[in-house]
Amino acid sequence: MQNTSAICIYPAQRSVFTLLCGTGPGLIGTSGIKVFIPQTVLVVLEDLLPVLGANLVSLRQLSYYCLRSLGTGAGLFGVPELSCPEGFQEAQNKALQESEQLVQKACSTPPGPETVMIFDQLSDSLCRVADLADFVKVAHPDFAFREAAEEACRNIGTVVEKLNTDVELCQSLRRLLADETVMNSLDPETRRVAELFMFDFEISGIHLDEEKRKKAVDLNVRILDLCNEFLIGTHIPNKIDKHVLPEHIRYNFTAEGNYLRVAGLHADCPDDLVREAAYKIFLHSNSQQLARLEELLASRNSLAQLVGYDTFAHRALQGTMAKNPGIRHVWKDMLRNQMSGILFQMLMPWDHPYYSGVLRAERYNIDPGLYCPFFSLGACMEGLNTLFSQLLGISLYAEQTKRGEIWSEDVRKLAVVHETEGLLGYIYCDFFQRPDKPHQDCHFTVRGGRLKENGEYQLPVVVLMLSLPNSARGAPTLLSPGMMENLFHEMGHAMHSMLGRTRYQHVTGTRCATDFAEVPSILMEYFANDYRVVNQFARHYKTGQPLPKNMVSRLCESKKVCAAADMQLQVFYAVLDQIYHGKHPLKKSTTEILKETQEKVYGLPYVPNTAWHLRFSHLVGYGAKYYSYLMSRAVASMVWKQCFAQNPFDRAMGERYRREMLAHGGGKEPMLMVQGMLQKSPSVEDFVDALVSDLDHDFETFIMDS
Ligand SMILES: [Zn+2]
Repeated sequence: MQNTSAICIYPAQRSVFTLLCGTGPGLIGTSGIKVFIPQTVLVVLEDLLPVLGANLVSLRQLSYYCLRSLGTGAGLFGVPELSCPEGFQEAQNKALQESEQLVQKACSTPPGPETVMIFDQLSDSLCRVADLADFVKVAHPDFAFREAAEEACRNIGTVVEKLNTDVELCQSLRRLLADETVMNSLDPETRRVAELFMFDFEISGIHLDEEKRKKAVDLNVRILDLCNEFLIGTHIPNKIDKHVLPEHIRYNFTAEGNYLRVAGLHADCPDDLVREAAYKIFLHSNSQQLARLEELLASRNSLAQLVGYDTFAHRALQGTMAKNPGIRHVWKDMLRNQMSGILFQMLMPWDHPYYSGVLRAERYNIDPGLYCPFFSLGACMEGLNTLFSQLLGISLYAEQTKRGEIWSEDVRKLAVVHETEGLLGYIYCDFFQRPDKPHQDCHFTVRGGRLKENGEYQLPVVVLMLSLPNSARGAPTLLSPGMMENLFHEMGHAMHSMLGRTRYQHVTGTRCATDFAEVPSILMEYFANDYRVVNQFARHYKTGQPLPKNMVSRLCESKKVCAAADMQLQVFYAVLDQIYHGKHPLKKSTTEILKETQEKVYGLPYVPNTAWHLRFSHLVGYGAKYYSYLMSRAVASMVWKQCFAQNPFDRAMGERYRREMLAHGGGKEPMLMVQGMLQKSPSVEDFVDALVSDLDHDFETFIMDS
């Protein structure tokens, strides 16, 4: 059982456009999404308009409040217990009670498909509360709710840990896996889910003798502590005596008495000296943090070996597309060979992000202010709606929420409806900034889809969280191109959740191999950057003018500036992560490995006494899987080029995409899904070509702009 509901890898290389908001009248509500009130209600309310003296915008808001207050009270997400923070305790108790009964049932049921179903029910009863709480604890505006949710997460986490080390429960599953006749009679999805459940048991060392099992438990506890300590250490600012720095740059850093506090890399600062100083001070080696990292890596390695793997990387890559760590060594070399032309000569590591930005802005006129008026949120949502209906026969309908169902009044609920199959699930759109809400674009699974015992399908429920600026009263929310692309990206995750019609919630939608999870979302980025798609919805919110084609081309080309260097940086991170989680004991210190790998793979010189890896927080969350982003991007690129580049609205391809990829969630081996979609088995060279070919400049745009 796992509790990973939030996914999203956003490596630092993604460009962040400044936020811009337009003002002026618009027919679209402050949310920017048009249809939130059923047409009949709107018509009735519109008749009252002269009486109320309200305009359409405030009318929509007014009716929103009316409808909410008319609705019967419902808890958060319609879970009745959650109408107050105390309800988390009740929901938790209910889940725990249910899970106890299911554990007994699992242990007393003879091995068969029912075993897997009971395990999935068990996982569902706990995840339904834990996943929901995972979201509430980070995003609810009310502290009491956040606290109650945090408590629920902790308690359910403890129960999950206990269940993962429950020998009797494990034996019931083991009996099934050992019974060849029964296993052969199972369908592939059920077999895979049974194996995935077993995998969760194995990592806690349940198959070991008592002494080793105790060691595994101890190691797990220690690893968890080290992860937390390391993560905290990655953010801690460094201090330096202010006299060490030239006076004219001191003001860039926060003064604390005689010291200056350096809390980041100041990568966007135009002053070379400031960037250099920040780089050297912020990344200065720290012996405590170094000891933590080295113990973490060694402990992970010991744990992996204890439960039967060669290295931690071998364990982490189980069930992924990459399958085993060997593949990326080839890949790394290939990338390096193909991209060697762009190695830079005089730059230092603190220069790369800054000069990429400067070059991008200088060479292409891509001021977000020019683009924003064409991307009102309402237009973008309609663009997504049109695209999904063309490709997949799916429409998004705004649905009223009941009182207490949502946590902030600007949250919108979308029903996802298929033209013949009907309602598929719900997406809650929590798009706007508010105090105490994390600045992060994220997709959360709140409830997984699964086939229930009574034959009904439990509909999936997700939240999409963005950080869009609140627009001025009555004006539409305008998105920068980067925000528009992120919206498409997150919607790609949501569609994965909605269309992953798996029998088991353990493999619902985005609960799939890490290196496959970003394929559907990155694929949506290709749609967001295609002129034919953008032209369907990008209209100036005042004039209705379409976005000119050359502006879309310029934007796409600008992303290729220094893209090879950015990718090389990602390859360097991925390779470093693999070496650290590879064969132990490591041949050299982690700092020496950093130096060697940086010079070999990235090309920019290592700066003495710095230790960038001690700030690399992804080593915790993506241990041995940092490569996933590149892998997902390569697959998305292949799918785009082969299936959609010719016609991005091809319904037959859309259906193939749904059938071969989205429908399976994590219930099918990812590489088989890729093969099904591409109708061939891609080679390592194909993966590399897919990434490298995206870096090529488009000759036509070049000519046009010259
Ligand atoms: Zn993502």
